[in-house]
Amino acid sequence: MICVSTRGKSPAVPFRDAVLAGLAPDGGLYVSATLERRSEEWWNALRGRSFQDVAVAMAQALIGDEFAPGELTALVTSALDFPIPIIHLEDRLQVVELFHGPTFAFKDFGARMLARFMSHVHAGAEPLTVLVATSGDTGSAVAHAFFGVPGTRVVVLYPEGQVSAVQEAQFTTLGGNVSAVAVAGTFDDCQRLAKEAFANETLKARVTLTSANSISLGRLVPQMFYYAYAALQADRRQPITVSVPSGNFGNLVAGVMAWKMGAPLASFVAATTVNDTVPRYLDSGRFEPRPSVATLANAMDVGNPSNFERLQWLFDGDRAAMRGAISSSVHTDDDVRRAIGELHRRYGYVADPHTAIAYLGTQAPKPSRLRQGYGGQASPPAPKPSSPLVFLSTAHPAKFREVVEPAIGKTVQLPDALAAALERPRFVERIGATLGELSKLL
Ligand SMILES: *Cc1c(COP(=O)(O)O)cnc(C)c1O
Repeated sequence: MICVSTRGKSPAVPFRDAVLAGLAPDGGLYVSATLERRSEEWWNALRGRSFQDVAVAMAQALIGDEFAPGELTALVTSALDFPIPIIHLEDRLQVVELFHGPTFAFKDFGARMLARFMSHVHAGAEPLTVLVATSGDTGSAVAHAFFGVPGTRVVVLYPEGQVSAVQEAQFTTLGGNVSAVAVAGTFDDCQRLAKEAFANETLKARVTLTSANSISLGRLVPQMFYYAYAALQADRRQPITVSVPSGNFGNLVAGVMAWKMGAPLASFVAATTVNDTVPRYLDSGRFEPRPSVATLANAMDVGNPSNFERLQWLFDGDRAAMRGAISSSVHTDDDVRRAIGELHRRYGYVADPHTAIAYLGTQAPKPSRLRQGYGGQASPPAPKPSSPLVFLSTAHPAKFREVVEPAIGKTVQLPDALAAALERPRFVERIGATLGELSKLL
């Protein structure tokens, strides 16, 4: 894969270099300049195959030129070793569950694949130390992603006493190559410490430090696989429309990449909270980021989605083309509570708030209150009504029990693995919020 920057002012590099770099030198994001469209026969040959088969075939086609035979298969199958159930709710409505990885959220796809790519590309030199500051969720996704990956070590900095019990249990009970460090201070102190460590030359001469960059192209490639897998399962071989609960828009970008590669996808719905910078752009043509507002679907509360730059690049800056492929729908917290109740009443399906927004995206967009503020612009095109609708479920409902339980009037069981983590002994080191103490530990 040849990777170029969205800003066009960095040299083209192979995928391996783009993965290690994270951001391009010109400040842009790496995108694939060689996303070749595959034929209908190529895709048809993958119908009826397992998720891992589809993933390996796509990975070979995309980046196989940069790995020795067998290597890529091993990386993909070890990273993506959890089930991806597709649940049929009614004729032409299905939900794809992407939360069966170790941290019960779909970020496991990107984080686990990126961890293996980084360890592989780095192999041979001294161990890679991944330093991450967390207020809760990022720490567990990164810790689990690198847990047991050879040649790597993860150090998670978190504010002592300020993360939830379940979150803390997820990254302090692993042991092995994962060190959890409780900092006497706030999340801001943790972030400052990490920044100081990355900037410290003496420390960097001694330890190979890296961050697990959230905008790395290495995270998006594995997310393409489940779009294709879901599309290949569709009844009557009809291309599907996928509703994507979107925040930073990495997930949707991966879908568009799978579509460009020729996977049988008809269109997308960008479903968002009231943090609707991209839907407003689709309506008005103006990209106007705003400070984010807190909602029930907090992983989607992004006011300035960084992957918008990739989306624009993929459509060559042509908004009409983007609107032809992507419609949008914007939802309030009240909509979310109502949708969680409706999914449960109609289908007996229990959804978390992010998934509820994706579900709402499958309903033909009505001109909502929110939209009336858009200066009389026409509503965006509705999802193609003829194609089967699929929505992506991105988190386990037990992670959001306090919202889900009142909406369905029932308790939600913690998954066994989460319940077990709460019982296990914790391995925590404690430090004051100084670089001196952190350096000693590294
Ligand atoms: C991160 C996240 C999203 C949003 O995904 P993007 O790729 O940032 O658009 C949706 N749901 C959950 C549960 C998430 O953690």
